[in-house]
Amino acid sequence: MTIETILVLNAGSSSIKFQLFQGEESVLSGQIDGLGASAWVKGKTAEGKVLMDRALSEEEAKDHTAALQVILALLKEFDANLEVDAIGHRVVHGSTNFSAPVLVTEEVDKELEGINHLAPLHNPHNLAGIRGAKAAFPGKPNVACFDTAFHRTQEFKNEAYAIPLKYYEEGVRRYGMHGQSFHYISEELHNVAPEVANGKVVVAHLGNGASMCAIDNGKCVTTTMGFTPLDGLAMGTRCGLIDPGVIFYLMEEKGMTSKEVAHLLNKESGMKGLSGISQDMRDLEQSEDPRAKQALEYYDNRVKRELGALVAVMGGIDALVFTGGIGENSAKTRAGVCKGLEFLGIEIDEEANGARAKEAITISKPSSKVKIMAIPTNEEAMIARQTREICEA
Ligand code: AMP
Repeated sequence: MTIETILVLNAGSSSIKFQLFQGEESVLSGQIDGLGASAWVKGKTAEGKVLMDRALSEEEAKDHTAALQVILALLKEFDANLEVDAIGHRVVHGSTNFSAPVLVTEEVDKELEGINHLAPLHNPHNLAGIRGAKAAFPGKPNVACFDTAFHRTQEFKNEAYAIPLKYYEEGVRRYGMHGQSFHYISEELHNVAPEVANGKVVVAHLGNGASMCAIDNGKCVTTTMGFTPLDGLAMGTRCGLIDPGVIFYLMEEKGMTSKEVAHLLNKESGMKGLSGISQDMRDLEQSEDPRAKQALEYYDNRVKRELGALVAVMGGIDALVFTGGIGENSAKTRAGVCKGLEFLGIEIDEEANGARAKEAITISKPSSKVKIMAIPTNEEAMIARQTREICEA
């Protein structure tokens, strides 16, 4: 079966992001926000022509299935004769069940429902998107592509927490996230830096959410996110790695409920909490406030610390790649992370690092043993690619 036109969907609790691919090319993108309340749809072509920018009626905004009918109408406005051949879905958690993308059958749908509890803020909505797409595009294949799948190559020693083994067996594991991004970068290296593509690579996906991954010969060795996206690096509003003792303290001494602690660590921590100014790196980089400077130093130091751990566990490093909104755009963060790592063979070129990574750029000095790059990620393109591979197999 030849798959030409693929719709990629990323369904969240109150939003659906979408992108239409023809071949490898993204031709249309947009999103619906505010589902369940006053919702809005915006969609534009790759050339920037706005095709839809309007409020949804109450009926259209009532759930994912209804909202998908609006996306269907938008696709028809783009091209009245358009046929969507397949739909690729971002699904955050694949548990231990899924180590690769999968065609959604009745059984897979049931299996997905059975792992909703592992990512209650994401997976139920991803599944609602799949069910909505089944109704909107009857008979067309739906493929689930998992953020966790790329990390299923981790060995026990990297995947387990040191708590009684029965919890590991039950599924309390370091699953890792951002798998689509790491997978995309790992494949992209074959185009932009083939000399390191099969080597030992650390990818730092630094966006609002952030994690790093040690990749050896295209396979994940280990990653900084764990059971949930709260582990690892300090992020925009998430604390990252924290002593669980802090949580006991907050609950027992401060009388906070588990919900309140979850809110504090997910929404009020990270750069936002540390700086007291903003979660956005651009604001912090422009601020004169010493708290901003301190928070930025903290951020770089956390990345550095995880980099050291990943390199040690992988047994070396041939390339370091920055990606995500911060990794692609913030020369300051890249310089801050690499500073003082010459002993590891990491030598950044200040001038080359000044650029934004609109496309892949090399930012290491010619003398640097480790190739340092900034490469724009494209999770949707990866989902489209995986969807095509599954459907054409
Ligand atoms: P993402 O989640 O990958 O879209 O990344 C979003 C984050 O990237 C924003 O919250 C900013 O902190 C950061 N960012 C975007 N553009 C820049 C820039 N030019 N300089 C520094 N940080 C940036």
